Amino acid sequence: MTATAFGPAQLLHRLRARSGSAAQSPITHVEQVTARAGRVAEWPEWADPSVRESLVSQGIVAPWQHQADAASLAWAGTHVVLATGTASGKSMAYQLPALSRLAADPRATVLYLAPTKALAADQLRALVRLGLDGVRPATLDGDTQREEREWIRQHSRFILTNPDMLHHAVLPAHARWGAFFRRLSYVVIDECHAYRGVFGSHVAHVLRRLRRVAERYGSSPTFVLASATSGDPAGSASRLVGVPVAAVVEDASPRGGMTFALWEPPLLPPESSAPPTFVPAARTPASAAGSSSADSPSAGFLSAGSASEVDPDLDNMPPIRRSALRETADLLTDAVVAGTRTLAFVRSRRGAEVVATMARRSLDEAVPGLGSRVAAYRGGYLREDRRAIERALLSGELLGLASTNALELGVDLAGLDAVLICGWPGTRASLWQQAGRAGRAGGEALAVLIARDDPLDTYLVHHPEALFGRPVEATVLDPANPYVLGPQLCCAASEAPLTETDLELFGGAAARATVEALVQQGALRKRPSGWYWTERGRPDVDLRGTGGAPVQVVEASTGRLLGTVDQGSSHVMLHEGAVYLHQGVTYLVDELDLEDAIALVHPEEPDWTTHARDVTDVSVVRVRSYVDAGPVGLFLGDVDVTSQVVSYQRRRLGSGEVIDTKPLDLPVRELRTVAVWFTISPQALAAAGVETADVPGALHAAEHAGIGLLPLIATCDRWDIGGLSTANHPDTEAPTVFVYDGHPGGAGFAERAYATAAEWLRATREAIASCACETGCPSCVQSPKCGNGNNPLDKPGAVRVLTTVLAALPPD
Ligand SMILES: [Zn+2]
Ligand SMILES: [Zn+2]
Repeated sequence: MTATAFGPAQLLHRLRARSGSAAQSPITHVEQVTARAGRVAEWPEWADPSVRESLVSQGIVAPWQHQADAASLAWAGTHVVLATGTASGKSMAYQLPALSRLAADPRATVLYLAPTKALAADQLRALVRLGLDGVRPATLDGDTQREEREWIRQHSRFILTNPDMLHHAVLPAHARWGAFFRRLSYVVIDECHAYRGVFGSHVAHVLRRLRRVAERYGSSPTFVLASATSGDPAGSASRLVGVPVAAVVEDASPRGGMTFALWEPPLLPPESSAPPTFVPAARTPASAAGSSSADSPSAGFLSAGSASEVDPDLDNMPPIRRSALRETADLLTDAVVAGTRTLAFVRSRRGAEVVATMARRSLDEAVPGLGSRVAAYRGGYLREDRRAIERALLSGELLGLASTNALELGVDLAGLDAVLICGWPGTRASLWQQAGRAGRAGGEALAVLIARDDPLDTYLVHHPEALFGRPVEATVLDPANPYVLGPQLCCAASEAPLTETDLELFGGAAARATVEALVQQGALRKRPSGWYWTERGRPDVDLRGTGGAPVQVVEASTGRLLGTVDQGSSHVMLHEGAVYLHQGVTYLVDELDLEDAIALVHPEEPDWTTHARDVTDVSVVRVRSYVDAGPVGLFLGDVDVTSQVVSYQRRRLGSGEVIDTKPLDLPVRELRTVAVWFTISPQALAAAGVETADVPGALHAAEHAGIGLLPLIATCDRWDIGGLSTANHPDTEAPTVFVYDGHPGGAGFAERAYATAAEWLRATREAIASCACETGCPSCVQSPKCGNGNNPLDKPGAVRVLTTVLAALPPD
């Protein structure tokens, strides 16, 4: 059977048929993404002929309309962000004006910034292929040798680097780079949606420092940014660079047709689902009143490289739905039986192995030997092995592949018949990156998103407009975060004394207050000509963290460093006895030494997982803004969060059965951050039918789902966010739900939640109400990171709470 014997419609039909009657169809929506013909534009008049000819020689006959629009804005000196789909040719939009300028002015220079070394290397290859004289493009990164660096500084006119390099090496030595800065005409910021959260806030200041230094040398470069499609690209880009940025968002590149199905695994029949096994939370000081539930964030979880290792399908929440992994394996099996070349994306490495193994087993049962046509593929394999697997899939020797991440795949691996996406990959950009692997020129392709047990996944498969309509998630960052602003102002002052004008550049009032605090601390000194950095050395500032040395995870027997976890997360992830996952291998923590910031671990495969329990309190420091909506109040403000991990549970893998609870002796942690919170009067709750005894559970359930849905409107991960719900908070004197940013000083997530509260809470209510479970499940109100063992939770009560809040709040 050949791969082309089956179209996407027939395949989808076949997949649907497997799952029984239409009434219980797991398919919640089918979107026909119609093929789109490209819309070309004329080459702009201003484009340099030699640059144009080089591009033509690379097969670009004419620019797409969006490329021409963005390029012409940039040529005219307007800062511009191009936010269009993957493979829409964003590089050409900055190459054309930047290279034309280099051709017109033989001394002009261009700076290109990429979030990864790989991307910069990729762009360098593209520039070299254009073969333009006198440009001398070069990458500058941590691996660049000293002599090479010297050559680049003196001769290259198109430097490709990253924000870390700019921050650590170029800006502090700006005098040596004077000639480069003097003629700096363009700054290109590629994949700018990567600059989010605390890292994004740091990068925002690095760019302000860059603008200041360029101005010292008499240049004011035009910024050209490339972004994945997201909500409010102009706003996000303006915040990042600190100047108004125009957006070009209409994608005029051609696209093949695609059938995109949304799939929700069915609920298990009641007899086969495990009985609820959660035991009530231990009575702790904070919950002694019986009314308060806390959920600590694991800030830095993502940067520690471990978030993708957390896979609820492999975790121990009691199964209520059929697992997304099993469902994906079955779909992969059916697709391979039908002879279609199919790629399945799974978030964790272990998950990818599980999917491949399950599919191979069922295929061998159906047709002995067919199982060998399926393989798993993940990072950590040798490059040659990965390329061999890719070739086998392209040739049709392999029919099915389960993989962790689209970015690890070779660029040639495209044109497949179908793509299965197991679980929402986090952002719309990743979703389309993965789906985009399917589809051949002129052909039709199939993509299926299979929802995992998660409130956001549940919401999305029931709200296709959130996926296929206007994007709402915005790239969030907060340059005013004092924990970022302080260190960055020190860096700026060490590069050149800060002046009154500079304070405007770095954020006005917030910058002034921070500078005054730095003078008090002795870090800066005020002189008539400005504020000076007082120390000899340069400030030691890490763009990817906010203070506190990360904890090193070390294998005790070999001394091998496995990875690092930031301090904030270490109590939850690395307490003594914790199960720690690293690149699909399971370790047990023997010892956490906070003084030396080291956790010693050994490899072990226990049949249980661990869940830390904590006691958390939130106190309000300052209200920044609020909405008084009668019985409901909505607030944004600064809070102090104190939390202490007090014990952990061991739970059986698969069933979630609690084996035991062990005490821990860890210090209290304090976090000053930004929170959004809402209050409801007890009368309004009573009127909505929430009994007094059910108030804690209703608020707690609403808080969980709210945290789960926040990534819909802000580019965060639920692990970046913490929460606390209480039937009576001493500061608000009312039933309250707090949702706070897990990063010191805040990373902008709470602000985004406050600004779009009605949209966010409406989606939260929808996610809970549309879940078919009866009393709450991981798809709606249960949380894999609950510090209270998911107790108490009241699903119907949560819907009533949110309905009451939404009725009172003004619409967005
Ligand atoms: Zn549910
Ligand atoms: Zn909780």
